[in-house]
Amino acid sequence: MRSIRFPDGTEVPALGQGTWMMAEHPNRRVDEITALRAGIELGMTLVDTAEMYADGESERLVGEAVAGVRNRVFLVSKAYPHNASRDRLPRACEASLERLGTDRLDLYLLHWRGSVPLAETVDAMERLVDAGRIMRWGVSNLDVDDMAELVSAGGDACATDQILYNLTRRGPERDLLPWLAGRGTPAMAYSPVEQGRLVREPMLADVAADLGATPAQVALAWILARGDIIAIPKAGSVAHVRENRAAAELVLAPETMARLDAAFPAPPGSVPLEML
Ligand code: NAP
Repeated sequence: MRSIRFPDGTEVPALGQGTWMMAEHPNRRVDEITALRAGIELGMTLVDTAEMYADGESERLVGEAVAGVRNRVFLVSKAYPHNASRDRLPRACEASLERLGTDRLDLYLLHWRGSVPLAETVDAMERLVDAGRIMRWGVSNLDVDDMAELVSAGGDACATDQILYNLTRRGPERDLLPWLAGRGTPAMAYSPVEQGRLVREPMLADVAADLGATPAQVALAWILARGDIIAIPKAGSVAHVRENRAAAELVLAPETMARLDAAFPAPPGSVPLEML
């Protein structure tokens, strides 16, 4: 598995696992836990969750999935913007740790920007680092202006920006991804298969068929080809996990990249960062 390096030197697999929409249906719980465990065994050891997902139940499910293998897993969770203050962030973090059944998060993200000043969130995050409750922190859904403001507000240590990025959401290529790359800060691509919609794109299916691969694999391999982005597909079955894992071994030739570029062009100008 290829790895991606955070600014502090820590390396994580380029392909991780998402968990939004997990723990929503009791009858899928066993399959979801089995899928996450299979992914961990296959090297997709970065697991992304959030206090928001299933109202905390996704974190509980992740806690169950990583029990016994916690030290091999890079755990990421996110705080609501309304919890990103000096007073509330420590409590939100403790609640996430309790649900996850762990004593620390490897990465804690501000889920999106709200009304709490960024400088206050930075301070609250740094205090959690000092207290050993989180190993590092980052943000999500921040566009380039917000990122610049974050750094001015003392947020130099921000480890990542988790953003919507896939073949049909290429807006970040113009400003945000070059800005992050210039600082040596990897991005995390969420919804890398566009919540399953990319799998049904006929042009992607054609490219995949010619390669003997699946559309999801080509969509993921296209993101990983950049070399500075972590992709976190969510898969609720072992079959999808295995299929996605194989994408990390799929190298797309220049002709294939050109076909994808023609079928899914980047927007011609700057567009605001989209979010789901
Ligand atoms: P996604 O990973 O692009 O797509 C998930 C969907 O694709 C599921 O319906 C899944 O079905 C299906 N899928 C996965 N692998 C497949 C395969 N090989 N073949 C066919 N279908 C496949 O979308 P996402 O869940 O929105 O994004 C991924 C993760 O990013 C989330 O789970 C969450 O952790 C994170 N996220 C963060 C934010 C943010 O604001 N920071 C926003 C959205 C998402 P099955 O479940 O049936 O396998």
